[in-house]
Amino acid sequence: MRFVYLDHAATTPTDPEVVKEMLPCFTESFGNPSTLYKIGREAKKAITLARDKVAVAIGAKSEEIIFTSGGTESDNFALKGVAFANEQKGKHIITSSVEHHAVLETCKFLAKNGFEITYLPVDKYGIVDPEDVRKAVTDKTILVSVMQANNEVGTIEPIAETGKIVKEKGIYFHTDAVQAIGAVPVNVNDLNVDLLALSAHKFYGPKGVGALYIRKGTRMMSLINGGHQERRRRAGTENVPGIVGLGKAIELAVSKMEERSKQLTFLRDKLINGILDNIENVRLNGHPEKRLPNNANFSFEFVEGESMLLNLDLVGVAVSSGSACTSDTLEPSHVLSAMKVPIEIAHGSVRFTLGKNTTEEDIDYVLEVLPPIIKKLRQMSPLREGLDLNV
Ligand code: PLP
Repeated sequence: MRFVYLDHAATTPTDPEVVKEMLPCFTESFGNPSTLYKIGREAKKAITLARDKVAVAIGAKSEEIIFTSGGTESDNFALKGVAFANEQKGKHIITSSVEHHAVLETCKFLAKNGFEITYLPVDKYGIVDPEDVRKAVTDKTILVSVMQANNEVGTIEPIAETGKIVKEKGIYFHTDAVQAIGAVPVNVNDLNVDLLALSAHKFYGPKGVGALYIRKGTRMMSLINGGHQERRRRAGTENVPGIVGLGKAIELAVSKMEERSKQLTFLRDKLINGILDNIENVRLNGHPEKRLPNNANFSFEFVEGESMLLNLDLVGVAVSSGSACTSDTLEPSHVLSAMKVPIEIAHGSVRFTLGKNTTEEDIDYVLEVLPPIIKKLRQMSPLREGLDLNV
C-alpha cells in the first residue's frame, strides 16, 4: 500500500545529509565540548559552527543563539526567563489565543505565579491585529509573545508590524517561529523581535534540539542552572550531535526555501482546490493567502476529525486532526475556537501538512481516497440530516 505522510507540521524525517553530519559526533568526535584536549576542542568547534549557521539563517549574531532541547523549552525559556528577570518593572504579559501550548501553558504557569496575562483575540482567519497589541499594552507590560506562523491552520501573522509597535513601547517581543523556519523568511531584525524560538525536527533536523534567539541586552533569567555552558544561560553538557544536526538542517532549510516553497504551494493548492471542488460542505480553515506553503486545514461538516484520521490511516495516509499535541483529547481545537469556528464544525477538522518529499502522485492519491471516506462517514453520521449524500 502507498504511504503518504502529510503531517510535516508534527514532525519531519531527518534529512540524510543531516544524519551524515551528525554521525561522527556519536563515535569518533564524541568529546565533551567543555574539555580542553583535542576531541573536546573539536566538539566545541562543531557547536560554534552550528551556532554560526543558525545565526546566519535568521540574521542574528552568533552569541545571541542559545541551544535548547526544542521548541517547547525555547518558548518556556523566553517567557519565564523574561518574566522572572523583569518582574520589578511590571507583571503583565500579552499573548494571543492561538499560540501553541508551549506558550499557553507557560502563560498559565506564570498566571499562577502572580503575572497577569492578556490573551488577544484573532479574526476569522486566525490573525492577531497589531493594533490590538498596541491597545493592550499598559505601563506594567514587560513582554509580548505572538507566533510567526500557526501550527494548526498555517496562518502567517504580521509579526514585523506588531514588532514595530512593541519596539516603540520599549517592551520585549518574542515570536514562536517553530513552523516558520524553512517555509517563510525569518530575520530577527526585519521582524523586530527580541526573542525567537525554533525547533530542528520541524525542518528535517533531529528531534530534541532547538534554539532560542535572545537579542543582546535582553534581561533574562536562566531556567536550568549548573555548569557554564551556553554563556551560563542554559547549563548542561551540550547535545553535540543534535546541535550539529540543527546547524546543517537550518542551513539546508534556508538555502532551499524558495524552491521548496514554490513546489509546496503548487501541491497545496492542488489539494485545496481538489477537495473544495469535489467534496461538499467543507471549508478551508486559516487565511486563504497568508498561510504556510505546506498547510491545508479543512473542516468537513457532519464527520468527526478522528474518524477521518483513522480511515485515512487505513489507506496509508498520515494526517492530523487538530494539533498533533492535542489529538488525543476530544476538546475542540483552541485555535479553531478562537477563530469562532462552530464547535460541531471544528470537530470535523483535518490538517494536511506537506513536505519536501511530497509528490503530485501523493496528492492525486489523497484526492482519490478521501471522497469515498467522507461519503461513508457521512452515511453513518447522526448529524447528516438533509444532506445530499453524493459526496
Ligand atoms: N511551537 C509550535 C508552533 C509548534 O508547532 C511546536 C510543535 O508542534 C512547538 C512549539 C513545540 O516544539 P517541540 O516539539 O520542539 O518541543
